[in-house]
Amino acid sequence: MHTKTDSLPSSAEALRYPWENHPGHDQVVEVAPGVLWARLKLPFRLNHVNIYLLADGDGWTMVDAGFGNEESIAAWTTLFEGPLKHVKVKRLIVTHSHPDHVGLAGWITERFDCPLFMSQVEYLQSVYHQNRGTEERRSAQRLFFRRHGMDEDLTEKLLGRGQDYLKRVSVLPPSYHRLTHGDEVVIGTRRFKVITGGGHALDQVMLYCAADKLFLSADQVLSKISPNVSVWAVEPEQNSLGEYLASLASLTTTLPYDVMVLPGHGVPFYGLKTRIKQLADHHEERCRLIADACRQVPQTSRQLVPVVFNKYPLDVHQMGFASGELIAHVNYMLVEGRLTAEMADDGVLRFRTT
Ligand SMILES: [Zn+2]
Repeated sequence: MHTKTDSLPSSAEALRYPWENHPGHDQVVEVAPGVLWARLKLPFRLNHVNIYLLADGDGWTMVDAGFGNEESIAAWTTLFEGPLKHVKVKRLIVTHSHPDHVGLAGWITERFDCPLFMSQVEYLQSVYHQNRGTEERRSAQRLFFRRHGMDEDLTEKLLGRGQDYLKRVSVLPPSYHRLTHGDEVVIGTRRFKVITGGGHALDQVMLYCAADKLFLSADQVLSKISPNVSVWAVEPEQNSLGEYLASLASLTTTLPYDVMVLPGHGVPFYGLKTRIKQLADHHEERCRLIADACRQVPQTSRQLVPVVFNKYPLDVHQMGFASGELIAHVNYMLVEGRLTAEMADDGVLRFRTT
């Protein structure tokens, strides 16, 4: 069923997945004329990342590069010797600084001798990730986790996790070309508008082609999972959830309902506005759980993790993301005046519903 028109309320638009089957490791799928979809494996629970190739005259523009490990290099080699034999990458666009997207940027740009395009903030954030792990930074992270009620043992585990995960990038190209919100990028016969948004990353790049109704949503709007929206020690009071919800609200008012969404994970889909509403509702539900839990007795972030993430226990990788997400909800609720924070003599923050 897909008979809605523009005049119907967009929230009624059903989600539809034209390709339930994703491409195998040695395949690419053409999702629109001159738009190829490849999928690379990832070595953690989020087990894959999508890469798109856009026809660009005598070559191709690649969107995202994959995780920086030997397996991804092997996967690319299989593709470039197989279904992508004809592909010459002229330009690499990386949507954001997370290692599953920027990881192989250096490897791709070197292999094809092509330029890298990113938003300024995401490029600088990638440089920051590459140079992190100093003792000063680790003590700031220790303090941050302690304030949120994590014990020493868990804190050390979380610090170990971050080091391992974020360093999975090849050496970044030493220079880049800047993409800014509102820019227009011509790729082959198509014009794409650059849209950036915060929340999942600081200034994630999305691409929208109005003529063909294609929306490369990066990780801002995913088909089946909710993108991680976290707060980290580097900016302890960041309102990343507020930024994320503002970005979703802006996408839902500026884009038409019937775009084909090409996300960074999962499968392409129709029903953007429905999906955006689901994502916003999901965060509101988490806020409601937090508000309920903090009504009688003030709670620490550590205590709130199992309230919101019920598939407990979590492994260290999941616990790292869960803590960051939990703190994002708490910070958002503080800004919105739904919680107040108290710091007792033990130096731990406790939150109370207003
Ligand atoms: Zn991602």
